[in-house]
Amino acid sequence: MDLMNYVDGKFQAHTGEEWLDVVEPATGRQFARVPLSSPSDVDSAILAARRAQPEWGGLSHSERADWLEIIADELESRYEDIASLESRDTGKPISLARAVDANRSVANFRFFADMIRDHRGEVFEMADADNFVTYRPVGVGALITPWNLPLYLLSWKVAPAIGMGNTVVCKPSEMTPLTANLLMEVIDKVGLPSGVVNLVHGNGDGAGSCLVSHSDVDLVSFTGGTSTGAKVAASASPHFKKISLELGGKNSSIVFADCDLKKTIEGVGRAAFLNQGQICLCGSRVLVQESIYDEFVEGFIDSVESLKIGDPSEESTQLGALISSDHLQKVKEYVSIAKDEGGHFLTGGDDLKIRSSLSRDLEGGYWMAPTVIGGLSPDSRCSTEEIFGPVVTVHRFKTEEEAIEIANGTRYGLAGSVWTEDLEKGRRVAEGIRTGMVWVNTWLHRDLRTPFGGVGDSGVGREGGKWSLGFFSETLNVCVKR
Ligand code: NAD
Repeated sequence: MDLMNYVDGKFQAHTGEEWLDVVEPATGRQFARVPLSSPSDVDSAILAARRAQPEWGGLSHSERADWLEIIADELESRYEDIASLESRDTGKPISLARAVDANRSVANFRFFADMIRDHRGEVFEMADADNFVTYRPVGVGALITPWNLPLYLLSWKVAPAIGMGNTVVCKPSEMTPLTANLLMEVIDKVGLPSGVVNLVHGNGDGAGSCLVSHSDVDLVSFTGGTSTGAKVAASASPHFKKISLELGGKNSSIVFADCDLKKTIEGVGRAAFLNQGQICLCGSRVLVQESIYDEFVEGFIDSVESLKIGDPSEESTQLGALISSDHLQKVKEYVSIAKDEGGHFLTGGDDLKIRSSLSRDLEGGYWMAPTVIGGLSPDSRCSTEEIFGPVVTVHRFKTEEEAIEIANGTRYGLAGSVWTEDLEKGRRVAEGIRTGMVWVNTWLHRDLRTPFGGVGDSGVGREGGKWSLGFFSETLNVCVKR
């Protein structure tokens, strides 16, 4: 399958000759090609978005909300296609692709349709005047997304961006472009006005950086790695574009002695290994109160070793393949760093056991056993740097203060979880962590109205609910003297 850009309401071939192979992580085989778009392809997409913006921005909130609902309905009718393409493209289990990726992509459009329909400006009265605050479109937005939750994250940006009257150019990850292509098919089918949503495929150094630095782009919403985020910020800032950066994470799961052990083991395991640990919110540092450390670790290892790894298309599979050969290599390098740093492997650490149980078809895939490492210092590299794979370090702590200190010992600040039956303590500890989101006795329990984003190396700005509507708009205050 050779993919095409989607510009000005039409699928279009890119102007150059360059392509990139799209590889199925579970088999290591190529199954599609993505175009490496040129600067002139990016220019055409931005021009189409610019031309479409005034008319689109002139529609009422409720007219644009209607469009979001139409897109949601059509996406929902492609639910099974979304799940199977996402599973094939990313290597994640089909059950996860259904429950998370397909569900949330549809839900994102519905949620923002409702929010935008109800969205009003504000009035602030003074003794002698009234202030009228209105929310206007920013203009043309560049939306750049990573490979781990492809359509989930793209829809999270497209829906509020166009809902608030902007037009957009999307640049999905070159490694997982298939569901972005599906979204364009949906948009094409429902007849969204031409130029409102455009898509250029390509890699980061090519189409991505060209888009971000373009003088006719007013806003950049970027989700991806921290080092890429720094480059994106550097090229966007000379033009004073609005920018939101959702970057990496190294999140702690803090387990207190008074937790419900069974539920905690299950929840901490899910936080550690969902999507093979390739979610920015994953809890990859597990901090356990000393008095239950041995009991927790024993139960945790049993539960990790019972995870079913293998063919992502099988319903019962719980862990699939890692995204690419390069990424697997990076994760394995951290495993050897852990050895050098004096870590001991409580389980996992290699792929030999998994490989011996895979069918021949999957032998070329990018497999890694879920790995739990003990004995490392909380300030070791493996415990503080983002690995973004199925690798978790476990550490002991004695007091609340020590748990907070360890949790705050990374440059990241995206998420975290606290496990205790004392809910007051749970909140107290959560509020002590320098981060953007903390769950108590749960993980990835999302209410789309709440702010999403991080601090430090995890990024700048918040998306979600009214924060997305604020980011994807410019406010105007008109003060009228009576
Ligand atoms: P990445 O930074 O390599 O790529 C992300 C996107 O940016 C891709 O579309 C890529 O082509 C593009 N890109 C690369 N260089 C660019 C440049 N110079 N200019 C413009 N665009 C460029 O990230 P990845 O490997 O695809 O994703 C994994 C990372 O994403 C992890 O660090 C993870 O924590 C992070 N992530 C964060 C969140 C969040 O909400 N905070 C969510 C998901 C993933």
